[in-house]
Amino acid sequence: MNHEQKNLFGHPVGLYICFFTEMWERFSFYGMKALLIFYLTKYHFFSDNEGNHLVGSYAALVYAMPVIGGMLADKYLGFRKAVTFGAILLVLGHLGMAYEGHQAYMENDTIIRDESALQVFYFSLALIIMGVGFLKPNISTIVGALYEEGDPRRDSGFTIFYMGINLGSALATIICGYLGENYGWKYGFGAAGIGMIGGLITFLWGQKFLMGKAEPSNPAVLKEKIGGIVPREWLIYFGGIVGVFIAWQMVQYHVVVGYTLTTISIAAAVFLAWFLIAKCNPIERARMGVLIVLIIFTVIFWALFEQAYTSMNLFADRIIDRSINLSFISVKEIPASAFLSLNAIFIIIFAPILAWFWVKLGKLNPNVPIKFAFGIILAGLGFGMLVLGIKFADDAGKVAMIWLVGAYLLHTFGELCLSPVGLSAVTKLSVQSIVGVMMGAWFLATAGSEYIAALLANIASVETIEGEVADSSVALANYNELFSLLLWMGLGFGLLLAAISPILKKYMHGIK
Ligand code: GLN
Repeated sequence: MNHEQKNLFGHPVGLYICFFTEMWERFSFYGMKALLIFYLTKYHFFSDNEGNHLVGSYAALVYAMPVIGGMLADKYLGFRKAVTFGAILLVLGHLGMAYEGHQAYMENDTIIRDESALQVFYFSLALIIMGVGFLKPNISTIVGALYEEGDPRRDSGFTIFYMGINLGSALATIICGYLGENYGWKYGFGAAGIGMIGGLITFLWGQKFLMGKAEPSNPAVLKEKIGGIVPREWLIYFGGIVGVFIAWQMVQYHVVVGYTLTTISIAAAVFLAWFLIAKCNPIERARMGVLIVLIIFTVIFWALFEQAYTSMNLFADRIIDRSINLSFISVKEIPASAFLSLNAIFIIIFAPILAWFWVKLGKLNPNVPIKFAFGIILAGLGFGMLVLGIKFADDAGKVAMIWLVGAYLLHTFGELCLSPVGLSAVTKLSVQSIVGVMMGAWFLATAGSEYIAALLANIASVETIEGEVADSSVALANYNELFSLLLWMGLGFGLLLAAISPILKKYMHGIK
């Protein structure tokens, strides 16, 4: 039978292939990310600052690389080949993470770490960075390519795909978090690697259902021999592997990552300024200007939201009372990383409800800048929950878990107001010839925010001895200081955006 005609539950079968590939990819990505800060601080005895910096550098590079992966797929590789290459790098990276070496220990006053195991670890991170760069933007583009222009099923197709992302994330944070925290890091990381093997197999098996929509635009260019010897396709893969070695070094130098991000951002800004002046008519210029302002505001949102993987994760571990004692159920302790799965679970529950709600509001449906403002305010209010929780801490300095659950709930509502809405805004407000660049700019903003998130998280850093907090009252005071700042940042920037939203709305020239 011709695969082109195949539909399942009203959508092309290819959508489900993308769904499951991305579900496994996010399973490995979030499963590993949930464990990362604990692995660094508890196993290798990194200080809070060093741990935050490493998570920040890694996450920043992960989100900067899709700009390049997307461009290469657009111009040469096509999306199917790019996703396959990315998936192979990811399998290798996640399996490499399962090698943990020996636990750090103290000799007199010096921390002795397994430096060679750490190098294997950094190399594995680099494989993941390049793997995500090739896979993440392109699997999303394939989803879009499965639908003809104007196909009314496109939005619901993306909603289903977004659920796949979060299903992977929810399962991973529970399974990998549990294995890693209770049985040993290598089991958690290893489970992430096995998940990614599932993703690779799904994609290799299912690529026949992509209806030829993810093929290279010009196969002849790809086969062309450079210097008469090596086909361009192989040269690109070789470039990807060279990129792994560069990322291997970069991830170890937080400052270098900062400079690189700044350089890429300046280059993007210069290009866009030129494009706006030289290539746009006044209406396009106005819409692009609005999009750029919105993208800049996402840096604030993600810088707050991404605390989940550093300060909020450590807060859950050190400060939250994670024991459950009810008459019918008594769980010793919920692993700290399990709280991260709340975000994904809340998305799975509320994404369809919110999508329905926006449609239901009809004329009252708020415009994109207002939704963004809500998103940023909600991120701030999430930290308000934690500040309140700290005020009600018990005598032992422990905070009830309901406050953290509330924080994640508000953060999730914020994400739903900003993230899916933003992706769609990129495709609507951008001049079509550079929509890929603008999507790259969207992820680049996340990259920048990951870097800033790590610096902010440092405000709550505390002294640790062999991975344990030295003075818990100092810890509580530091978390209070950080979360109060983030509350006011969210409120301040959110209200600022709301205040300028009428101007932005005007310059969107009728686009909703
Ligand atoms: N949580 C979403 C994902 O993993 C969005 C991430 C982002 O754009 N910063 O795809």
